[in-house]
Amino acid sequence: MNKGRLIVIDGIDGSGKTTQIELLKQVLASQGVPLQIISFPRYEDNEYGKLVKRYLEGEFGSINEVDPRKMACLFAGDRLLAKPIIEKWLAEGKLVICNRYVSASKAHMGANLPKEKRAEFFKWLDVLEYETNAIPKEDLTILLTVDPEVGQKNVLGRHPDLHEDNLKHLEEANKIYLELSGMEPNWEVINCIENGQMRSKEAIHQDIMQILSKIS
Ligand code: ADP
Repeated sequence: MNKGRLIVIDGIDGSGKTTQIELLKQVLASQGVPLQIISFPRYEDNEYGKLVKRYLEGEFGSINEVDPRKMACLFAGDRLLAKPIIEKWLAEGKLVICNRYVSASKAHMGANLPKEKRAEFFKWLDVLEYETNAIPKEDLTILLTVDPEVGQKNVLGRHPDLHEDNLKHLEEANKIYLELSGMEPNWEVINCIENGQMRSKEAIHQDIMQILSKIS
């Protein structure tokens, strides 16, 4: 890995993104890999992120009441503000790992739209994020899939947000993530479930390391 790469780790709430990124941080740092990690949304960092937090706390209405495009603009605004730092890291040759990216808006906001309106929404969002805002395009997206019930159980201790609290939403978002993995280039899918339970953190980590080892 001798030039900057933008790797996205995505998946529904409780799929283990943060856990895996923490493991990657430890292992890649010990191997001397130049690494930067950024996690979206950044709830406290800027006004877009603060509005995202208020949306997820239900302040703007239920999932069915909010306009997915308006909400997607908030998530996109937060990412836009991170563009200079991500571009700097990439120019320095860093491996940049993103906890959620544009794919998360597609899955979570798309889940709030009727199926027949999703393709148009994805196109609109690609134009907003990658052309209008011109944020860096990811080189690879690693999708962690879990049964939504298991994901929801994994985050039971957390104060549930509008998405985590709604199993139907998580199921829809999970389906969209899987659809995106078949539609968009450079996705790798890791099934994190075996016999109805989470595979071990270490086993999932090994799968991620194997995928990363193929990146030149
Ligand atoms: P996410 O960032 O995708 O929401 P987290 O990494 O925060 O998910 O994980 C949610 C919870 O699930 C945490 O309590 C974490 O310790 C637990 N967890 C994550 N991966 C596993 C795993 N493979 N096996 C068991 N528990 C896990």
